Amino acid sequence: MAPVYAPAAIIPVRGQGSRVWDEQDREYIDLTSGIAVTAFGHAHPELVEALTKQAGQLWHIGNVFTNHPVLRLASRLTESTFADRAFFANSGAEANEAALKLARRVAHDRYGPQTKKTKIIAFSQSFHGRTLFSVSAGGQPKYSEGFGPLPQGIVHLPFNDIDAALTEIDADTCAVIVEPVQGEGGVVPATREFLQCLRCMCSKHDALLVFDEVQTGIGRTGSLFAYMDLGVTPDILTSAKALGNGFPIGAMLTTAEIGEHFTVGTHGSTHGGNPLAAAVADRVVEMVNTAHVLEGVRDRSASIFASLRSINSRTGMFRELRGSGLLIGAELSDSYRGRSKEIMTAALDEGVMILNAGPDVLRFAPALNIPYECIDEAFDRLEIALHRVKGAKASAPAPVERSA
Ligand SMILES: *Cc1c(COP(=O)(O)O)cnc(C)c1O
Repeated sequence: MAPVYAPAAIIPVRGQGSRVWDEQDREYIDLTSGIAVTAFGHAHPELVEALTKQAGQLWHIGNVFTNHPVLRLASRLTESTFADRAFFANSGAEANEAALKLARRVAHDRYGPQTKKTKIIAFSQSFHGRTLFSVSAGGQPKYSEGFGPLPQGIVHLPFNDIDAALTEIDADTCAVIVEPVQGEGGVVPATREFLQCLRCMCSKHDALLVFDEVQTGIGRTGSLFAYMDLGVTPDILTSAKALGNGFPIGAMLTTAEIGEHFTVGTHGSTHGGNPLAAAVADRVVEMVNTAHVLEGVRDRSASIFASLRSINSRTGMFRELRGSGLLIGAELSDSYRGRSKEIMTAALDEGVMILNAGPDVLRFAPALNIPYECIDEAFDRLEIALHRVKGAKASAPAPVERSA
C-alpha cells in the first residue's frame, strides 16, 4: 500500500457493538467509530440485515437505471431535512466536490458565463476531504501543499471571526463552506452568532451557504443534522461518514431551486446511489432519527464530559473540553502539547481506541448507542493510560468548557 497512513501496530479482526478484537483476541473499547462512521457500532444486527437482504437482490445497476433503495433514501432525507433534492456519491470529499461544483454552476447560470461571482469562502483549520477541489477548500495548507496548481478563487478566513466574514463575503462570492463543528481541525464548534452572520451575508449577496456535516451529521451532535439545533438553515448540506455506518456513501442535499442547476449530464458518479449503500443508509437514517437515539446522544455526552472533568481533576492534562454531542475534544494542557499521538498509543495499550484532532487534541467519537458501562470502562482504561504518560499524579484547576 502507498504509505499515506501510519496504522497502529495491532490489526482489528472483528467487532460487536462498541468492542473490537484483534488477531490475538485482545479486546478494545472503540471510542473512534472509525472516525465518526460506525454510528451504531460494529455488526449491528439490523444493519447486517439491511445489507445482506439487499446483497441477495441487487448490488449495482448504475445510474442508467434508478433503484428502489436510493429512491427510498432520497425521500427519507428530504422529508427529514430542509432539502428537496439529493445527489449521492461515495464519500465526504465527493459530496463536497458536488456542492462546490453546484455553487459555481448556479452562479454561472444566474449571472452568465462572464460572471466574476466565483469566489468561495472557506475557513482556516477546516477539513473538507482530499480531492483537489475539496482539499483546496480545506484550511490546513499542509494537505494541499505540493499538489498545485490548485483550483482558483478560494479565500480562507479565520473561523468564528464575524468581522472577517462581514468584510469578505461580497457580491463576487458564490458560496461559503463551513463545518458547524470543525472536526479534524481540533473539535472547535462554530458559534451560533458566527453561523447566523454567514447565513445573513449569504442571503444578502445571493451566495450559497454550504454546511459540511460529513462529521457532525447523522445524530453525532444530538440532532439528525447539527444545523437543526443552531437556528441556521444552509442552502446545501453534505453528509457521508456515519450515513452508511461503514458502507461508503456520501450525499449532497439541497433545495429544489438550487438542485435544478444540476441538469442531466452536468454531474454524476458510477457507484453513487448504489442499491447496497442506499439500503444500508436508509436504515441508518431511520434508526438515528428517533427521540430515543438522539436523547441518548445527549445523555452519553453529559456522561463523557463528566468523566473527562473528573479525570482532569486527578491528572491536570487538559486545558479545555469542548464539542457537541458525541464529538468531543480534550485539548492537552501546555506541558502535554504535541503528544496526542503518544497518548492514543498508550490508550490502545490499555484497551481503548481514541482519536486525535491534530497534535494537541484528543478526540472522542464513540458509537451513538455505546452502552454506559462501556463508557465507564473506557474512561477507566484511558485514565490508566494518561497516568502512564504522565508518570506521576498531580492536580490542576478545572478546565474551561465550550459547547455548540
Ligand atoms: C471526513 C470528512 C470529510 C471527508 O470525507 P471522506 O469520506 O474521507 O472523503 C469531509 N468533511 C469533513 C467535515 C470530514 O470530517
